[in-house]
Amino acid sequence: MPTNNISQRTTLNAKRFPNIIFGPINSRRFGKSLGIDLSPGKKQCNFDCLYCELDPAKTMAQQDEVLPVAQIINAVKEGLREHGDIDVLTVTANGEPTLYPYLNELIEVINKIKGHTKTLILSNAATIDDPKIQEALLKFDEVKLSLDCATQKCLKKLDRSHEGIDVERIKKGMLDFKARYRGSLIIEILVVATLNDKPEEIGALNDYLLKLHPDRIDLGTIDRPPAFDVKPVSYERLLALSRQFDPSLPLYIASRKKAHMTPSAYTEEEILDTLAKRPLTKEDIEALFDEASQKRFEFLQNEKKIVQVDSNGVIFYKKD
Ligand code: SF4
Repeated sequence: MPTNNISQRTTLNAKRFPNIIFGPINSRRFGKSLGIDLSPGKKQCNFDCLYCELDPAKTMAQQDEVLPVAQIINAVKEGLREHGDIDVLTVTANGEPTLYPYLNELIEVINKIKGHTKTLILSNAATIDDPKIQEALLKFDEVKLSLDCATQKCLKKLDRSHEGIDVERIKKGMLDFKARYRGSLIIEILVVATLNDKPEEIGALNDYLLKLHPDRIDLGTIDRPPAFDVKPVSYERLLALSRQFDPSLPLYIASRKKAHMTPSAYTEEEILDTLAKRPLTKEDIEALFDEASQKRFEFLQNEKKIVQVDSNGVIFYKKD
């Protein structure tokens, strides 16, 4: 858990870490995003996930190498000067950004200097039950929290969480945070074959997400080489899993694997049946439906049998 006790930490000379700012990266949803890394020197995380793209590292409850706020702010100012048309500043880390002990102070200063640029933080949610962390996260325009597991057994096995981190406290913390938060709350679930794709895990996630009702849920799988020998699931499997969630949940299949799919032929009835089970994005439709089926899809749209809904920046198509 992050605390304000920094006496034993090393305050870093940021000249060693020119990589506080990274990007810009173009994203379809956010536009041009500039990243801010709150731990550029080494991995500092309270998880050590099996699928992490960073090397395995000992978990920690608080950062032991800490950058000064002023140094990060100088880097942000320089980044904004260099790339004048940034749409979003994304706070992240080699590890977990909420372990940065001055996160609240940092976001307050960023909000003063950012102009019209939006702010986003990517967190593993392990500290979300801490009121001080919630105070800081409330100041972001958008918060994206990971939730790979809704049971303690899965959290321990897949995310290899630091001692004392409890999934029930995470779940309660998210509910408390959602009740207070006015921005967009996105939940990210990363599916790892044979670990969190079992019916009991998906069922537990579904039950919880129906209570939380976040603005969007991104369901994805491993896209980059993982730290340990764990396997992704196929796009077809993600699609099948997505159908185990309640259709009212704003679930988006966020996987690059869909690019490798061979599209299939769907009748009009099959298209409507597919969309009744799970709303799909244009990307999903292009991955799933062959050319003739896409024409049928367009016809059904013109007939108003399929409607378009905007779910926090992502367009979904569903059966009317
Ligand atoms: S939370 Fe992120 S940085 Fe930390 S171990 Fe998991 S994947 Fe890696």
